[in-house]
Amino acid sequence: MPPVTIRPEDDIRHHLDQLITGNKVVVFSTTTCPFCAKVKELFRSLAVDVVVVELDQVDRGVELREALSARVGRTSVPQVFISGQHIGGCDDTHKARDDGLLTKLLTQHSYDYDLIVIGGGSGGLAASKEAVKYNKKVAVLDFVVPTPLGTSWGLGGTCVNVGCIPKKLMHTAALIGQTLKDAPHYGWNIAGDITHDWNRMKDEIQNYVKSINFGYRVQLRENKVNYINAFGSFQDSHTIKCVDKKGKETTLTSDKFIIAVGERPRYPTDCPGVKEFAITSDDLFSLPYSPRKTLVIGASYVALECAGFLRGLGLDVTVMVRSILLRGFDQEMAEKAGEYMAEEGVKFLRPCIPVRVEQLEAGAPGRLRVTAKRTDNNEEFAEEYNSVLFAIGRDPCTDTIGLENAGVIKEKNGKIKTMSEKTNVDNIYAVGDILYGKLELTPVAVEAGVLLARRLFGGSSVECDYINVPTTVFTPLEYGACGYSEEQAVQEFGEDNIEVYHQKFCPFEWQNARVPQFEHRNRNERLLGFHYLGPNAGEVTQLVGIPLKMKATKGDLDALIGIHPTCAEVFTTLDVTKRSGLAPDLKSCCG
Ligand code: FAD
Ligand code: NDP
Repeated sequence: MPPVTIRPEDDIRHHLDQLITGNKVVVFSTTTCPFCAKVKELFRSLAVDVVVVELDQVDRGVELREALSARVGRTSVPQVFISGQHIGGCDDTHKARDDGLLTKLLTQHSYDYDLIVIGGGSGGLAASKEAVKYNKKVAVLDFVVPTPLGTSWGLGGTCVNVGCIPKKLMHTAALIGQTLKDAPHYGWNIAGDITHDWNRMKDEIQNYVKSINFGYRVQLRENKVNYINAFGSFQDSHTIKCVDKKGKETTLTSDKFIIAVGERPRYPTDCPGVKEFAITSDDLFSLPYSPRKTLVIGASYVALECAGFLRGLGLDVTVMVRSILLRGFDQEMAEKAGEYMAEEGVKFLRPCIPVRVEQLEAGAPGRLRVTAKRTDNNEEFAEEYNSVLFAIGRDPCTDTIGLENAGVIKEKNGKIKTMSEKTNVDNIYAVGDILYGKLELTPVAVEAGVLLARRLFGGSSVECDYINVPTTVFTPLEYGACGYSEEQAVQEFGEDNIEVYHQKFCPFEWQNARVPQFEHRNRNERLLGFHYLGPNAGEVTQLVGIPLKMKATKGDLDALIGIHPTCAEVFTTLDVTKRSGLAPDLKSCCG
């Protein structure tokens, strides 16, 4: 029986969890209790190796006993746990022996791993690193299937390689360009033309991404998570086939699985030439040449963000919009984000869909001709570009992972419906972008992964709360949103029950050159939604998410004194409602 040491700095409940989940059989006992002696004798007679925690002998035994009592709802000893399952006291344990439950639990199949996570992206890495904290044996499979043009990347999933991180850096590159244009007004002498070197930027970003890939590998190694660079597919609900780059196959078994395979860019099925000649966001961030004159197809997060920074880098950019901008977002704000892009020189083709892409000349970049159709009058037209970026949504990577072999049901769109992240199969869970009806954002995947691991192995019952998650679209004028859009609030509560406060505002640094806009909406004074179009939208929206989550009121915002001179201070002085019909005239921080 291994000795049990509890250090003064240990969190007692966490330590209790670790004892229970980290050992096959644990008996909480005292040295003088006759019932405890009986239970220990029972396990001895069965030749079962048990961890005995003598609560009258271990350090901080009184606290541990209190935590145990709170957990099981009894103050008596012994208390027996097998494979994390609470069996009970002396009588319960003997009854479990008589019923056959003890034999069943003790002879339960032993698998290669306690947990295998399929997908080493935001959700998968977070879940695996959390699971090992409970002494579980964990493996993560991560494998990147190259794009049709052959682009591939390292460990870490979409966010770090082909999503949030390189995107934000390219957005920053564009903002720096804007600042350089403003610089002479602040007395800076910038001699000559300001030019941008795509390859220099791309190389710096890719080096940074590679350093994160490396950091993740080190973290996994240090945390004793077994990283397997192979493509995983289920053979049954406890067995997975792993195929590595060289085609070598291995089979692994696990008690539990978490599916966190994410999504990949969608290609249209009715537009010839796309896979051969067009790129997606999976190719863009490591493109070894400037895309030059670019057509971006799509009108949501990915499309508008990419179009925004490409224009900010000085390229000729057109966006082809099928219907509306930023579906699901407040449409007034979405349109304003688009108007600002148009003012910055982005061209919009709308309402319009692509028909075919043809190559006129190969090169880096070459020349492509795109034929498109206006959907309001069916008129076809063609235009020449150097690059065509498809950003028409993303499909979950659930088609080729043998879900049918494991009995996991997926929805028509390939996503997986879960209850508290559990699929329809008892030992198989899912997190991240592949969840049906949930948000596709990195912090959402991370939070769901961490909390799931704590529930599976740490005795926690805390669930991921998917409501009122703040988000920001990093368009040239950034758009941050949290909670209801105006359309959603009207639909849910009725127009008479909501009040929309809005305000135009100009950061004084911009000297009225660019106009951000703020809005927030409430009902019976409770804050329902928040929409901000302006600089540093991510930073501002992140913090406004807190009062929203705490069900704050308009009065709470009014009672707060602003920080001057800032953009966010305007939220403390909002007084124009849409209902009043008054124009939300341009304010600057100085009134
Ligand atoms: P992923 O991060 O996609 O990870 C899944 C991993 O599993 C991948 O590495 C994949 O290769 C691997 N895999 C797939 N199938 C298998 C298999 N069978 N075997 C082994 N491995 C497999 N979110 C934000 O919050 N903020 C942003 O600013 C933001 N910007 C974005 C910009 C772009 C261009 C894109 C495309 C997305 C952006 N997102 C952003 C969304 C964010 O990247 C995702 O929500 C997040 O990465 C989802 O994490 P995940 O764990 O579900 O999947
Ligand atoms: P979305 O599914 O959100 O949007 C797809 C866009 O493509 C829509 O504008 C849609 O138009 C259009 N579209 C779809 N099919 C076609 C077609 N055949 N022809 C022309 N247009 C078409 O996908 P995204 O890839 O932009 O984003 C995926 C997710 O990634 C987001 O939901 C977000 O959660 C996450 N993300 C987050 C970011 C952030 O936090 N800043 C940044 C980027 C991505 P229509 O409206 O007409 O259907």
